[in-house]
Amino acid sequence: MRCNHCGKEIKTENQMAKEGVAEITLRWGYFSNKDGETHKICLCEDCYDRWIREFAIPVLIEENTELL
Ligand SMILES: [Zn+2]
Repeated sequence: MRCNHCGKEIKTENQMAKEGVAEITLRWGYFSNKDGETHKICLCEDCYDRWIREFAIPVLIEENTELL
């Protein structure tokens, strides 16, 4: 597993990331120019933080209430 943005190797154990990682799956729909495509993005936590800092409206953050 590697970060799409910086190429950094993300430590994994049994296919599970062992550090902060944003795994994003986008299923583009009919009204997009990418109808029928699924895009998968993997970002390390550093790149994710840098990315969302550029957003005009901050990311909606909710606390996870269920215990993992
Ligand atoms: Zn990165």
